Amino acid sequence: MPETENVAARPAEVHDVDVDVVVVGAGFAGMYLVVRCRAAGLSVVVLEAGTDVGGTWYWNRYPGARCDVVSMEYSYSFSSELEQEWDWTEAMAAQPEILRYARHVADRFDLRRDIRFSTRVTSAAFEESADRWTVRTDRGDRITARHCVMATGCLSAANLPDIPGRDTFTGRLLHTGNWPKEPVDLSGRVGVIGTGSSGVQAIPVIAEEAAHLTVFQRTPTFTFPANNRPMKPEIAAAYKEHYREVREAQKWSAAGMSGFSPSRGTTILQRGERRSDTPSEPRLLAALDADERRAAWDRLGFGIFTYFKDVYRDPVANEYACALYRDHIRSVVADPATAEALTPVGYPVGCKRQVLDTRFYETFNRPNVDVVDIAADPITTITPDGVRTARRHIELDTLVFATGFDAMTGALDRIDVAGRSGTRLRDYWAEGPRTYLGLQVAGFPNLFTVTGPGSPSVLANVIVAIEQHVDWIVDTIVDLDARGMRTIETTAEAEARWGAHVNEVAAGTMYTAPTCASWYLGANIEGKPRQFLPYVGGFARYRATCDRVRTEGYDGFVLT
Ligand code: NAP
Repeated sequence: MPETENVAARPAEVHDVDVDVVVVGAGFAGMYLVVRCRAAGLSVVVLEAGTDVGGTWYWNRYPGARCDVVSMEYSYSFSSELEQEWDWTEAMAAQPEILRYARHVADRFDLRRDIRFSTRVTSAAFEESADRWTVRTDRGDRITARHCVMATGCLSAANLPDIPGRDTFTGRLLHTGNWPKEPVDLSGRVGVIGTGSSGVQAIPVIAEEAAHLTVFQRTPTFTFPANNRPMKPEIAAAYKEHYREVREAQKWSAAGMSGFSPSRGTTILQRGERRSDTPSEPRLLAALDADERRAAWDRLGFGIFTYFKDVYRDPVANEYACALYRDHIRSVVADPATAEALTPVGYPVGCKRQVLDTRFYETFNRPNVDVVDIAADPITTITPDGVRTARRHIELDTLVFATGFDAMTGALDRIDVAGRSGTRLRDYWAEGPRTYLGLQVAGFPNLFTVTGPGSPSVLANVIVAIEQHVDWIVDTIVDLDARGMRTIETTAEAEARWGAHVNEVAAGTMYTAPTCASWYLGANIEGKPRQFLPYVGGFARYRATCDRVRTEGYDGFVLT
């Protein structure tokens, strides 16, 4: 079936309807919600700001955008026909292919008839007298619903730093997370601010087109080779043959990945392996001397980070691994000053989201690419024709902000969400988000957040996390209806208990190391409270908790 781009313009008529479930966002979560609600006999309307489905993969069209989870596993599991008929062309698919997949799913299951595109939600308010949510949009729609599901994404609210003079720039100013649909001319003098996952993916591709590329880097990153390659037919065939076992293993894995071995046809579950297994003789980097550590790198390369079990647990081992990594940069980047600028120091590997790249360091050996260390030579202003740092002015035709997102809470903060007694979600979360299981907030009955703060979300294969949340939410709504219950609402006590657990499992990991400043902690947004946002206790453990909560009569929730 050909996958089509939705070209529907902003709908002409204003919507004023009442449904069982209103959903905000038509990314992979919103789309699956349509599938599940329909199958459960629930009426559903999805409101989407973009002109088509795809969410993250609709907005992040920057050059080089690509997934870093293997495509065979970064896909829906709810339809075996869909699994069998879709063919991925690369081990890790690029953005255009993932967007095509999303469109294919929309076509195949006729999802768009329940989605209102080009429609941005402005507010959602709980009407206590009617136990209903009223959702309003920028085009005057008014949707009332028994349940409201925020499928707004974890990385969807772009962070466009307010650098002085930003709006005076007369060239083209772009954000990777809000990239135009039409082709962008990058042949001139291009600047990229940011070296997180987006910047690291975009820089090598832009470098090939630009007359000159200047990378403005505040914090050097740790990035590992993606080792992407064309999909081998025998690998795709092995997956397709064993998809049910693969999906089951994904569900009960640490991070939504099955550990499937195409040659053996078995998953991590079937082999009885667990990421947490401790080998009988623990492989510890900290136990090796300098020569042995060097020999280990020569033998294993980037494999040392997972081979040695203490790298992400013991600060000493972590620093040994970082030192080997830094030597690696010096061996790849020809100019010593550039290598030095690109070298991460002062924070552990494993603190920030792991970045994967394709020829990132090699790109800095090109004559048309240079890096400005803006920690040492800060940007003072953006001028009409470029960027001024403390030491110089760099003329640019295009300036790309690869500056990330107000993660996990930003998209919700941008909607005026009001619960009981008109309490605003953004006020309730002023000191940091409080949730139970990342699914619900006290005082906001029948409001659900898909992959919300306090759930594994960004630390798991997010499609697996989405399916688990959507299944839980829809199964719960169906169950409530069967029991004649009108509302489900968590309590402040349950939130406090869960929040303490989320912090407890994050404590002592590299994610919360004292020297770590990441978007997981809200550290990338000025004024955002510092709180570790996702749940790091493991996806399988989290799923088991959610299942148990339901079987034990919705422990931590009040049903009325
Ligand atoms: P990011 O990881 O937050 O990186 C943003 C970059 O911009 C950082 O280098 C940051 O520097 C810099 N920056 C932010 N504000 C700045 C400012 N005011 N001045 C100068 N530099 C500034 O954002 P991202 O690269 O868009 O990635 C976000 C997340 O999206 C990833 O972690 C990942 O979860 C997901 N993602 C995944 C993929 C993939 O799967 N392959 C690709 C893209 C994105 P500091 O480090 O100093 O803050």
